[in-house]
Amino acid sequence: MKSLKQKIIQNLENSVSEREIDLLEKAFEFAEKSHSEQKRKSGEPFVNHPLRVALTISQMKLGINAVIASVLHDIVEDCEIPLSEIKSQFNDEVSFLVNGLTKVNQIKYKEDDTAEKENFRNMILAMAKDLRIILIKLVDRLDNMKTLWPLEPTKRRKKSLETLEILAPLAYRLGMSDIGAQLEDLAFPYVYEEEYKLTKKIIGKRSEELKNYLQELVPLVQKELKGNNLNPEKIQFRTKHLYSIWRKLQKEDMDIKRIYDLVAMRIIMPNLEGCYGALGIIHQMWKPVPGRFKDYIALPKPNGYQSLHTAVFAKNGKIVEIQIRTPQMDEEAEWGIAAHWIYGSQKDDKKYKKRKKFNPPKNFYWINQLREWQKKFYSSEEFLSSLKVDFFKDRIFVLTPKGDIIDLPDGATTIDFAYQIHTDVGNQAAGARVNNKLVSLDYKLQSGEIIEIITKKRKLPSSSWLEFVKMSETRKKIQDALKGKDSI
Ligand code: MN
Repeated sequence: MKSLKQKIIQNLENSVSEREIDLLEKAFEFAEKSHSEQKRKSGEPFVNHPLRVALTISQMKLGINAVIASVLHDIVEDCEIPLSEIKSQFNDEVSFLVNGLTKVNQIKYKEDDTAEKENFRNMILAMAKDLRIILIKLVDRLDNMKTLWPLEPTKRRKKSLETLEILAPLAYRLGMSDIGAQLEDLAFPYVYEEEYKLTKKIIGKRSEELKNYLQELVPLVQKELKGNNLNPEKIQFRTKHLYSIWRKLQKEDMDIKRIYDLVAMRIIMPNLEGCYGALGIIHQMWKPVPGRFKDYIALPKPNGYQSLHTAVFAKNGKIVEIQIRTPQMDEEAEWGIAAHWIYGSQKDDKKYKKRKKFNPPKNFYWINQLREWQKKFYSSEEFLSSLKVDFFKDRIFVLTPKGDIIDLPDGATTIDFAYQIHTDVGNQAAGARVNNKLVSLDYKLQSGEIIEIITKKRKLPSSSWLEFVKMSETRKKIQDALKGKDSI
């Protein structure tokens, strides 16, 4: 059997130089040495974990430095090895990625902060600055979730809740539904144990039976398509994942019979024309269920997902869900944003370029931006620099000393922050500490910083603040307070 290290090298072989392989091998040694005293809770050597993460990352074709950073990702945090050593032993980019991962891991999710989930996800994105950091983070969490069982129940639940509420939605947002679904199913039993058991019980043998039934339909579909000169590349089945079944059960009065897409047939056609052709044939074979046809090819989902979905009354009147897509769309559904780069780096992919232009809603603007960029990749250097994304060009996310996340416009100062906490805190601001260090009041805040405002009773704002504050809301509050002073 090939070792993890051999598999990683094999995945990279055609895309990297010998020198880069040497650097990777150096990283293997470095990680093995640094983690040599540590074991995972399961008893296996710790280093297997970063190697497994690196193996998945090596499949995503994100470049050698992302793979090396995956190998080293827990070293600064767990082995107290300074970042400067990573920088001198490897290179700036590896140390930048490891530093980003260490920082993202330091943001702690507070369970009781239900309203803050979206902010928290945004904060992770804002802190990451480079998409490779998020991708490594997601793969890291996936491996941790797979090896969660030896942990104490409270720790297990906490990790699982964070996975369910923060990381899985992040994966979906980046179009990586496969990783998102895996994360959800791994976390589900630890967060909602009873519901998990109930869902499994309700499903029972149903999805197995449905799969067997669909299997019988495959030759019928194949024959009809072939007879019309359409050649599917693959026909497979997609079983709906457990957590999404549970969510749907709640909407459908816990009635499993109303969930028609428990198992779906997935037809992979070589091109767009083939997809629509196959759809026509399927609708001729079996009557479509009204209202169930969705053209996500012409109108992709906000995260970029593309496919044709339909449901038909198949043999014996049973309702069957069918998905039709090209191999590219299939890969994108799995790898999401990462797949775009794989395709984007191939200049001659005409099929991809031919696809309809995608107009995402405003809050997904960065996906659109990435798509624009991926069209322009010609060299691997450009490709890599495009992974550095300022997710929120105009927003920053900072923390109060209690850990509450405050969302501010880029360029906001300590005074803007103070007025966001409370008008009185703003009016009485006398000084500020950022990450425990005293700063001047016109200090421009950066994502991830912890801000503490020092107040002085019966103090009034200074008109000089108007020269540096960023938000018009802050300016208005200062002016109101100053007017009040004049009228006294
Ligand atoms: Mn890790």
